[in-house]
Amino acid sequence: MASAPPLQMQFVMSASDVDQLPDTPSEIAIVGRSNVGKSSLINALANRNQLAKVSKTPGRTQLLNLFELDDGTTIMDLPGYGYAKVPARVRATWGSMIEGYLLGRENLRLVVVLLDGEVGPTALDLDTLGWMEANEVPYRLVATKHDKVKPSQRDKRKKDLSAKCGVGVTDVLWVSASKNVNIDQMRARVREWLRPR
Ligand code: GDP
Repeated sequence: MASAPPLQMQFVMSASDVDQLPDTPSEIAIVGRSNVGKSSLINALANRNQLAKVSKTPGRTQLLNLFELDDGTTIMDLPGYGYAKVPARVRATWGSMIEGYLLGRENLRLVVVLLDGEVGPTALDLDTLGWMEANEVPYRLVATKHDKVKPSQRDKRKKDLSAKCGVGVTDVLWVSASKNVNIDQMRARVREWLRPR
């Protein structure tokens, strides 16, 4: 496949409420449990080592972090879920902020849910997918850390992972930010998902 150029991405702002966000032509959001490889993937898509660092700086980890592409479309980096150390009260606000965003963002096309390709979907991942289904929020699945699974195990792992999520094997794109596997495909899909219609 022809190589897709890196996504030209800029950090725009952090917000604690969907109402603070600027209107943009179209947007996708990326979500996943902490440590799934979200920052590494965003950096790989943009081919910039430090881009997603902004989402990991103190004070921003629990916020909605907005990035803009060269054509004005946007990518929302949602806070990672499943930090064990976060107190229940903070988790509740977090939940309502994210739900407010997912249900209230008008230009949101779909949500990319990241799953750890090495460990498969966790109970929390499946809860998230259940919530998306129940609320009719469209989503696509991307598995991370392709390089961490032995080549001989990959087919089986992908089958297991997609079966647990209730989708077909071809519905999951499996990438590696570290080894640049399927990053081109993901860039092309991001462009397609964001295309104005
Ligand atoms: P985030 O918390 O979801 O933003 O996850 P990070 O991008 O910080 O990644 C969490 C850990 O997984 C880090 O140690 C990364 O180096 C590692 N990681 C992320 N993507 C990959 C990958 O594609 N392959 C491998 N082997 N490790 C990865």
